[in-house]
Amino acid sequence: MRILRAEHLGMCFGVRDAIALALKQSHREPATVLGDLAHNETVLADLRAQGIRIVQQVGAVETGTVIITAHGASEGVKRIVRQRGLHLVDATCPLVRAAQRAVSSLARAGFHPVVVGRRDHVEVRGLTEDLEAFDVVLSEADVFELKERPRFGVAAQTTQPIEKVRALAELIRRRFPASEVRFIDTVCQPTKQRQNAATELAQRSDVVIVIGGARSNNTQELVHACRRHCPRVHHVQTAGDLREAWFEGAQTVGLTAGTSTPDACIREIEQWLASRCGSFGVGCACHGPHPLASASQTLSRAPSQTVQP
Ligand code: SF4
Repeated sequence: MRILRAEHLGMCFGVRDAIALALKQSHREPATVLGDLAHNETVLADLRAQGIRIVQQVGAVETGTVIITAHGASEGVKRIVRQRGLHLVDATCPLVRAAQRAVSSLARAGFHPVVVGRRDHVEVRGLTEDLEAFDVVLSEADVFELKERPRFGVAAQTTQPIEKVRALAELIRRRFPASEVRFIDTVCQPTKQRQNAATELAQRSDVVIVIGGARSNNTQELVHACRRHCPRVHHVQTAGDLREAWFEGAQTVGLTAGTSTPDACIREIEQWLASRCGSFGVGCACHGPHPLASASQTLSRAPSQTVQP
Protein backbone atom coordinates (compact mmCIF):
# COMPACT_ATOMS: atom_id res chain seq x y z
CA MET A 1 0.00 0.00 0.00
CA ARG A 2 1.30 3.43 -0.95
CA ILE A 3 0.70 6.45 1.26
CA LEU A 4 0.48 9.72 -0.66
CA ARG A 5 0.68 13.10 1.02
CA ALA A 6 -1.07 16.02 -0.67
CA GLU A 7 1.48 18.56 -1.91
CA HIS A 8 -0.10 21.21 0.30
CA LEU A 9 -1.63 20.15 3.59
CA GLY A 10 -1.84 21.04 7.25
CA MET A 11 -1.30 24.13 9.31
CA CYS A 12 -1.07 27.44 7.44
CA PHE A 13 1.28 30.30 8.30
CA GLY A 14 -1.61 32.36 9.73
CA VAL A 15 -2.45 29.80 12.40
CA ARG A 16 1.22 29.01 13.10
CA ASP A 17 2.00 32.71 13.64
CA ALA A 18 -1.04 33.18 15.89
CA ILE A 19 -0.01 30.21 18.07
CA ALA A 20 3.57 31.51 18.28
CA LEU A 21 2.34 34.98 19.27
CA ALA A 22 -0.02 33.59 21.91
CA LEU A 23 2.75 31.46 23.44
CA LYS A 24 5.24 34.35 23.41
CA GLN A 25 2.71 36.65 25.07
CA SER A 26 1.70 34.09 27.71
CA HIS A 27 5.36 33.63 28.70
CA ARG A 28 5.46 37.36 29.55
CA GLU A 29 2.14 37.67 31.40
CA PRO A 30 -1.14 35.79 31.90
CA ALA A 31 -3.12 36.00 28.67
CA THR A 32 -6.54 34.99 27.38
CA VAL A 33 -7.40 34.08 23.81
CA LEU A 34 -10.77 35.43 22.71
CA GLY A 35 -12.41 32.50 20.89
CA ASP A 36 -10.82 29.27 19.69
CA LEU A 37 -7.40 30.13 18.33
CA ALA A 38 -7.68 27.17 15.95
CA HIS A 39 -10.64 24.91 15.30
CA ASN A 40 -8.64 21.91 16.43
CA GLU A 41 -8.99 20.23 19.82
CA THR A 42 -5.35 19.10 19.95
CA VAL A 43 -4.10 22.65 19.44
CA LEU A 44 -6.50 24.05 22.06
CA ALA A 45 -5.53 21.37 24.61
CA ASP A 46 -1.83 22.17 24.04
CA LEU A 47 -2.44 25.89 24.56
CA ARG A 48 -4.42 25.28 27.75
CA ALA A 49 -1.66 22.97 28.99
CA GLN A 50 0.77 25.88 28.55
CA GLY A 51 -1.36 28.12 30.75
CA ILE A 52 -3.24 30.05 28.06
CA ARG A 53 -6.87 30.70 28.87
CA ILE A 54 -9.52 30.52 26.15
CA VAL A 55 -12.89 32.23 26.53
CA GLN A 56 -15.65 33.03 24.06
CA GLN A 57 -16.80 36.43 25.40
CA VAL A 58 -14.89 39.56 26.41
CA GLY A 59 -16.90 39.63 29.65
CA ALA A 60 -15.30 36.33 30.72
CA VAL A 61 -11.70 37.60 30.43
CA GLU A 62 -9.87 37.62 33.79
CA THR A 63 -6.36 38.48 32.62
CA GLY A 64 -4.96 41.88 31.66
CA THR A 65 -4.12 40.73 28.12
CA VAL A 66 -6.50 39.55 25.41
CA ILE A 67 -5.36 37.89 22.17
CA ILE A 68 -7.48 38.20 19.02
CA THR A 69 -7.22 34.99 16.96
CA ALA A 70 -6.05 34.59 13.36
CA HIS A 71 -9.75 34.71 12.33
CA GLY A 72 -9.83 38.40 13.29
CA ALA A 73 -12.52 40.41 15.06
CA SER A 74 -14.61 43.46 14.28
CA GLU A 75 -13.54 46.94 15.34
CA GLY A 76 -16.59 46.88 17.65
CA VAL A 77 -15.21 43.90 19.59
CA LYS A 78 -11.72 45.43 19.75
CA ARG A 79 -13.24 48.66 21.07
CA ILE A 80 -14.98 46.76 23.90
CA VAL A 81 -11.66 45.11 24.82
CA ARG A 82 -9.90 48.49 24.97
CA GLN A 83 -12.78 50.13 26.87
CA ARG A 84 -12.32 47.49 29.56
CA GLY A 85 -8.73 48.68 29.90
CA LEU A 86 -7.31 45.39 28.61
CA HIS A 87 -4.10 45.05 26.59
CA LEU A 88 -5.08 43.84 23.11
CA VAL A 89 -2.67 41.61 21.18
CA ASP A 90 -3.89 41.16 17.62
CA ALA A 91 -2.98 37.86 15.94
CA THR A 92 -5.31 38.42 12.98
CA CYS A 93 -3.88 36.72 9.87
CA PRO A 94 -2.76 39.27 7.24
CA LEU A 95 -4.96 37.51 4.67
CA VAL A 96 -8.01 37.91 6.93
CA ARG A 97 -7.07 41.60 7.28
CA ALA A 98 -7.00 41.80 3.48
CA ALA A 99 -10.53 40.33 3.39
CA GLN A 100 -11.68 42.83 6.04
CA ARG A 101 -10.21 45.70 4.01
CA ALA A 102 -11.88 44.39 0.85
CA VAL A 103 -15.33 44.23 2.47
CA SER A 104 -15.08 47.69 4.01
CA SER A 105 -13.77 49.19 0.76
CA LEU A 106 -16.78 47.73 -1.09
CA ALA A 107 -19.16 49.22 1.50
CA ARG A 108 -17.40 52.60 1.37
CA ALA A 109 -17.69 52.63 -2.44
CA GLY A 110 -21.46 52.18 -2.19
CA PHE A 111 -21.72 48.45 -2.90
CA HIS A 112 -24.04 46.36 -0.71
CA PRO A 113 -21.65 43.79 0.83
CA VAL A 114 -22.46 40.12 0.27
CA VAL A 115 -20.06 37.74 2.03
CA VAL A 116 -19.88 34.12 0.89
CA GLY A 117 -19.38 32.12 4.05
CA ARG A 118 -20.94 30.67 7.17
CA ARG A 119 -23.01 33.25 9.00
CA ASP A 120 -22.02 31.93 12.44
CA HIS A 121 -18.29 31.60 11.69
CA VAL A 122 -16.04 33.85 13.78
CA GLU A 123 -14.25 35.20 10.71
CA VAL A 124 -17.53 36.14 9.02
CA ARG A 125 -18.66 37.93 12.17
CA GLY A 126 -15.41 39.90 12.09
CA LEU A 127 -15.98 40.75 8.42
CA THR A 128 -19.54 41.98 8.91
CA GLU A 129 -20.18 43.21 12.47
CA ASP A 130 -19.01 46.77 11.75
CA LEU A 131 -21.26 47.11 8.70
CA GLU A 132 -24.65 48.83 8.74
CA ALA A 133 -26.13 46.47 6.15
CA PHE A 134 -24.86 43.25 4.57
CA ASP A 135 -25.87 39.73 3.54
CA VAL A 136 -24.14 36.40 4.05
CA VAL A 137 -24.76 33.62 1.52
CA LEU A 138 -23.59 30.03 1.39
CA SER A 139 -25.90 28.45 -1.19
CA GLU A 140 -27.92 29.20 -4.30
CA ALA A 141 -31.04 29.28 -2.10
CA ASP A 142 -29.45 32.12 -0.09
CA VAL A 143 -28.83 34.08 -3.31
CA PHE A 144 -32.47 33.71 -4.30
CA GLU A 145 -33.45 35.35 -1.01
CA LEU A 146 -31.36 38.49 -1.65
CA LYS A 147 -33.25 41.73 -2.25
CA GLU A 148 -32.41 43.67 -5.39
CA ARG A 149 -29.82 46.45 -4.89
CA PRO A 150 -28.30 48.81 -7.43
CA ARG A 151 -24.78 47.61 -6.51
CA PHE A 152 -23.56 44.41 -4.89
CA GLY A 153 -20.03 43.94 -3.53
CA VAL A 154 -19.13 40.25 -3.21
CA ALA A 155 -16.26 38.90 -1.10
CA ALA A 156 -15.76 35.66 0.84
CA GLN A 157 -14.66 34.05 4.04
CA THR A 158 -11.01 33.18 3.36
CA THR A 159 -11.54 29.41 3.69
CA GLN A 160 -14.39 28.94 1.22
CA PRO A 161 -13.72 26.95 -1.99
CA ILE A 162 -13.01 29.49 -4.72
CA GLU A 163 -15.15 27.65 -7.32
CA LYS A 164 -18.20 27.94 -5.07
CA VAL A 165 -17.49 31.62 -4.38
CA ARG A 166 -17.13 32.42 -8.09
CA ALA A 167 -20.30 30.46 -8.91
CA LEU A 168 -22.34 32.37 -6.31
CA ALA A 169 -20.95 35.72 -7.48
CA GLU A 170 -21.95 34.75 -11.04
CA LEU A 171 -25.41 33.71 -9.86
CA ILE A 172 -25.88 37.14 -8.24
CA ARG A 173 -24.95 38.72 -11.60
CA ARG A 174 -27.49 36.56 -13.44
CA ARG A 175 -30.24 37.06 -10.87
CA PHE A 176 -29.85 40.84 -10.85
CA PRO A 177 -28.86 41.78 -14.43
CA ALA A 178 -29.64 45.46 -13.84
CA SER A 179 -27.33 45.64 -10.79
CA GLU A 180 -23.62 46.38 -10.81
CA VAL A 181 -21.79 43.46 -9.17
CA ARG A 182 -18.19 43.90 -8.05
CA PHE A 183 -16.36 40.74 -6.89
CA ILE A 184 -13.13 40.75 -4.85
CA ASP A 185 -11.45 37.36 -4.44
CA THR A 186 -10.59 37.11 -0.72
CA VAL A 187 -10.12 33.33 -0.52
CA CYS A 188 -6.59 32.85 0.83
CA GLN A 189 -3.79 31.21 -1.09
CA PRO A 190 -3.18 28.42 1.50
CA THR A 191 -6.85 27.42 1.22
CA LYS A 192 -6.68 27.37 -2.59
CA GLN A 193 -3.48 25.32 -2.52
CA ARG A 194 -4.95 22.76 -0.12
CA GLN A 195 -8.18 22.49 -2.10
CA ASN A 196 -6.36 21.98 -5.41
CA ALA A 197 -3.90 19.49 -3.91
CA ALA A 198 -6.71 17.54 -2.18
CA THR A 199 -8.64 17.26 -5.46
CA GLU A 200 -5.60 15.88 -7.25
CA LEU A 201 -4.85 13.53 -4.35
CA ALA A 202 -8.41 12.15 -4.32
CA GLN A 203 -8.20 11.39 -8.06
CA ARG A 204 -5.17 9.15 -7.39
CA SER A 205 -6.27 7.46 -4.17
CA ASP A 206 -8.48 4.47 -3.26
CA VAL A 207 -8.99 5.89 0.23
CA VAL A 208 -8.46 9.47 1.45
CA ILE A 209 -7.93 10.46 5.06
CA VAL A 210 -8.67 14.12 5.83
CA ILE A 211 -7.19 15.20 9.17
CA GLY A 212 -8.61 18.15 11.06
CA GLY A 213 -10.94 19.44 13.74
CA ALA A 214 -14.62 18.49 13.64
CA ARG A 215 -15.61 22.19 13.57
CA SER A 216 -12.95 23.31 11.11
CA ASN A 217 -14.63 24.84 8.06
CA ASN A 218 -11.68 24.38 5.72
CA THR A 219 -11.29 20.73 6.79
CA GLN A 220 -14.95 20.08 6.00
CA GLU A 221 -14.44 21.71 2.61
CA LEU A 222 -11.47 19.40 1.95
CA VAL A 223 -13.74 16.44 2.73
CA HIS A 224 -16.34 17.73 0.22
CA ALA A 225 -13.65 18.31 -2.44
CA CYS A 226 -12.21 14.79 -2.00
CA ARG A 227 -15.65 13.11 -2.04
CA ARG A 228 -16.26 14.47 -5.52
CA HIS A 229 -13.43 12.24 -6.79
CA CYS A 230 -13.11 9.36 -4.33
CA PRO A 231 -15.94 7.40 -2.66
CA ARG A 232 -13.86 6.31 0.37
CA VAL A 233 -13.09 9.52 2.25
CA HIS A 234 -12.80 9.64 6.05
CA HIS A 235 -12.49 12.71 8.27
CA VAL A 236 -10.45 12.05 11.43
CA GLN A 237 -9.03 14.21 14.19
CA THR A 238 -6.41 11.81 15.58
CA ALA A 239 -5.00 8.35 14.88
CA GLY A 240 -7.45 7.04 17.48
CA ASP A 241 -10.29 7.65 14.99
CA LEU A 242 -8.78 5.39 12.28
CA ARG A 243 -10.31 1.95 11.55
CA GLU A 244 -8.39 -0.85 9.84
CA ALA A 245 -11.51 -1.92 7.90
CA TRP A 246 -11.39 1.37 5.93
CA PHE A 247 -8.21 0.26 4.14
CA GLU A 248 -9.20 -3.27 3.04
CA GLY A 249 -8.04 -3.79 -0.55
CA ALA A 250 -6.71 -0.23 -0.92
CA GLN A 251 -3.55 0.15 -3.03
CA THR A 252 -3.15 3.90 -2.45
CA VAL A 253 -4.11 5.94 0.58
CA GLY A 254 -4.08 9.74 0.30
CA LEU A 255 -3.50 12.07 3.25
CA THR A 256 -4.51 15.68 3.52
CA ALA A 257 -5.17 18.02 6.45
CA GLY A 258 -6.86 21.33 7.24
CA THR A 259 -5.11 24.61 7.97
CA SER A 260 -5.35 24.21 11.75
CA THR A 261 -4.03 20.63 11.91
CA PRO A 262 -0.71 20.32 13.76
CA ASP A 263 2.20 18.49 12.09
CA ALA A 264 2.28 16.00 14.98
CA CYS A 265 -1.27 14.81 14.17
CA ILE A 266 -0.30 14.20 10.53
CA ARG A 267 2.87 12.33 11.55
CA GLU A 268 0.96 10.19 14.04
CA ILE A 269 -1.50 9.12 11.34
CA GLU A 270 1.25 8.40 8.81
CA GLN A 271 2.97 6.23 11.41
CA TRP A 272 -0.27 4.38 12.16
CA LEU A 273 -0.75 3.66 8.45
CA ALA A 274 2.86 2.67 7.84
CA SER A 275 2.87 0.31 10.81
CA ARG A 276 -0.21 -1.53 9.51
CA CYS A 277 0.63 -1.67 5.82
CA GLY A 278 0.91 -5.46 5.94
CA SER A 279 -2.42 -6.04 7.66
CA PHE A 280 -4.81 -4.59 5.09
CA GLY A 281 -4.80 -7.58 2.76
CA VAL A 282 -2.75 -5.87 0.00
CA GLY A 283 0.92 -5.62 -0.90
CA CYS A 284 2.91 -3.21 1.26
CA ALA A 285 5.30 -0.61 -0.20
CA CYS A 286 7.14 -0.17 3.12
CA HIS A 287 10.80 -1.22 3.29
CA GLY A 288 13.77 -0.60 5.54
CA PRO A 289 14.19 0.30 9.18
CA HIS A 290 12.03 3.44 9.09
CA PRO A 291 8.79 2.52 7.37
CA LEU A 292 7.43 6.06 7.41
CA ALA A 293 10.34 7.46 5.43
CA SER A 294 9.89 5.00 2.58
CA ALA A 295 6.13 4.53 2.59
CA SER A 296 5.07 8.13 2.47
CA GLN A 297 5.47 10.10 -0.74
CA THR A 298 4.57 13.64 -1.55
CA LEU A 299 2.25 14.11 -4.46
CA SER A 300 3.75 16.52 -6.93
CA ARG A 301 1.76 18.60 -9.34
CA ALA A 302 1.87 21.76 -11.44
CA PRO A 303 2.01 25.01 -9.48
CA SER A 304 -1.30 26.57 -8.55
CA GLN A 305 -2.69 29.19 -10.93
CA THR A 306 -4.61 30.99 -8.20
CA VAL A 307 -4.15 34.65 -7.28
CA GLN A 308 -3.33 36.12 -3.89
CA PRO A 309 -6.14 38.27 -2.47
S1 SF4 B 1 -6.62 29.85 6.48
FE1 SF4 B 1 -5.78 31.52 5.26
S2 SF4 B 1 -6.68 33.39 6.08
FE2 SF4 B 1 -7.01 31.74 7.61
S3 SF4 B 1 -5.27 31.91 8.99
FE3 SF4 B 1 -4.69 30.44 7.42
S4 SF4 B 1 -3.61 31.67 5.84
FE4 SF4 B 1 -4.74 33.07 7.15
